Amino acid sequence: MPTGITETQKRKCSDFVGAGSISNAVDLLKSEVGMTLKDAKVTVSHISKTGQKCHWCQKDLAASGELECRDCHSLNFVWRASK
Ligand SMILES: [Zn+2]
Repeated sequence: MPTGITETQKRKCSDFVGAGSISNAVDLLKSEVGMTLKDAKVTVSHISKTGQKCHWCQKDLAASGELECRDCHSLNFVWRASK
């Protein structure tokens, strides 16, 4: 689980991912949160792109925050509201 990330940083990061700007999201985690490149990439890979849907199987997730998909058990970071 990522720690030390503010809600604002989570939202910005999620916006970048949703817009397809993966490198911007990685840069934000590195420069603002202080993550290593490796940790930043791993974190970004778990961020849901489309609100409350699993980043891996696209199934609806029950909630937001850091949670495991009930279908494929992927770890998801749902850092923005659906829609
Ligand atoms: Zn899933």
